[in-house]
Amino acid sequence: MENMEANSQEIIICPYCKKVLDKKPKRSKKCPFCKNRIAVYKGVLYQENELFHKIREERHQKAREFMQFIIRRDREFYESDEDEYFFEFRAAPDSCNFCANMSGKKIPYKEAIRNLNLLPPFESCQDVFCRCITEMTRKKDEPKSEKGG
Ligand SMILES: [Zn+2]
Ligand SMILES: [Zn+2]
Repeated sequence: MENMEANSQEIIICPYCKKVLDKKPKRSKKCPFCKNRIAVYKGVLYQENELFHKIREERHQKAREFMQFIIRRDREFYESDEDEYFFEFRAAPDSCNFCANMSGKKIPYKEAIRNLNLLPPFESCQDVFCRCITEMTRKKDEPKSEKGG
């Protein structure tokens, strides 16, 4: 049996003004009352800013988990020589200010492995996709200097 009742009983409210909408928008649209743009994501209504932050958090979390997986996987290789290695960050040319400031910075492998939150995507990154690249470098062979551009 089709359960039409359950759906029609759902009360849909504007995420800004909290007024009741006559039906749930399927995609981004302006609220007829307050005229703010309502964003729709996976069937849930959000304020645009709120959704932006939510998506950014989700993407960052996925990237973080992937990064941590790689680091743990390769740990054995670096562990024996952990004083030798460090992580070096490189931001994309149009990265957010925070990442741009982190670009070129290095942190010792030992330090990062004890606190993986030191690695990108940084908590303070403002981009939906943080494009910071983390390179593993070694004291002995400093990265060759490259001309950008
Ligand atoms: Zn509204
Ligand atoms: Zn960033």
